[in-house]
Amino acid sequence: MADHEVICWDCGANVEDPFVNTCPKCGGLLTVKMDLEPVKEMRPQDLRRDISGVWRYAPFMPVDPSRKVSIQEGGTPLYRTDRLAGELGISEVHVKFEGLNPTGSFKDRGMTIGVSHAKELGVKVVGCASTGNTSASLAAYAAKADLKCAVFLPSGKVAAGKLAQALFYGAKVLSVDGNFDDALDLARKMADEKKLYLLNSINPYRPEGQKSVLFEIMDQLEYDVPDRIILPVGNAANIWAVYKAIQELKEVGWIDKVPMLTGIQAEGSAPVAKAFCSGKRDFVPEENPETIATAIRIGNPVSGRKALHAIYDTGGFSIAVTDEEIIEAQQLIGRKEGICVEPASAASAAGLKKLISTGVADRDERVVCICTGNGLKDPETIIKNSPSPIQCGNSVTDAERILYG
Ligand SMILES: *Cc1c(COP(=O)(O)O)cnc(C)c1O
Ligand SMILES: [Zn+2]
Repeated sequence: MADHEVICWDCGANVEDPFVNTCPKCGGLLTVKMDLEPVKEMRPQDLRRDISGVWRYAPFMPVDPSRKVSIQEGGTPLYRTDRLAGELGISEVHVKFEGLNPTGSFKDRGMTIGVSHAKELGVKVVGCASTGNTSASLAAYAAKADLKCAVFLPSGKVAAGKLAQALFYGAKVLSVDGNFDDALDLARKMADEKKLYLLNSINPYRPEGQKSVLFEIMDQLEYDVPDRIILPVGNAANIWAVYKAIQELKEVGWIDKVPMLTGIQAEGSAPVAKAFCSGKRDFVPEENPETIATAIRIGNPVSGRKALHAIYDTGGFSIAVTDEEIIEAQQLIGRKEGICVEPASAASAAGLKKLISTGVADRDERVVCICTGNGLKDPETIIKNSPSPIQCGNSVTDAERILYG
């Protein structure tokens, strides 16, 4: 395991207690500081001896790989999406399709590290609040690790596939009266009272695993750094994780250029984008977040300040897109590229379209859109926005009429 310490992102204090999620001194956000001295002796090719995936990057991870809890997460494809690029009028776009992780979202990258760490600590009960994907992921890794698992979901607002996953893997599913932010408050209270070990992304070990998406993108692009990386922003840990990975690659000397980190939110749940538009480093929580993209239906993003730092520090950008723009982008990715992403994931492409039309993004940029989750998790949204199946008699004439008529 790489040497590391947990420190406060706000005041820099060392945090010894592994069961707190905020700084005991100032209440600030926690982060992991890795000792990367050993990696400075290595070259990127040295890691390619291991199969593609999160654990290929073990020297950047704060958990001993010999004790890993893994379902082979990561190693997802990076597609060069020329037809999408043509449609958007930009020269080079790649889609990193995180929907092909074991439970269908990038959450597995953080969860393999978080649950492995929970095992190291010897905890017996893990839990999280979730808009759906975190709970699906935690439920799977808890099953693999033989841990008891409780997930706190906002009642009635979780996509069917995600709910099915949490139930299927055997988690205790608690349907909380309220939205995600309320469910997280409750899960945090349970953690504060030591009734469970919290595996939301406020736990600093989760973003450590999520760094691997950036490591993989660089690996897949042969370390030819793209101009811009775009991703949806909900609780805002993933954009922070990508930023942290960039800083670490710079620290070990594997890259010298930094991509502009661009965070897209849904109108109606856009505290980070609003803060960015008014040049602020902190955000005002959204009381009643709404959007069809349930994975980013979050009003009080835990890592919102870290996200704003990441965006400003890389010369990036943040905007909000409408639900209509999200659905349009989701269909475009499907019909031009054969990739089925969930609505929140399509926000990245919807955002790119908007950035190009407003002149923020240049048409000759090399862009990577991170598509965070699988469209099959939310078939209801897809069916609702697609034409109905066409009734067809059992005859060539009828089929032909429909096809050519
Ligand atoms: C969790 C999630 C997001 C948001 O990620 P944050 O780290 O909360 O910003 C976006 N898309 C999908 C599919 C997700 O599951
Ligand atoms: Zn502090």
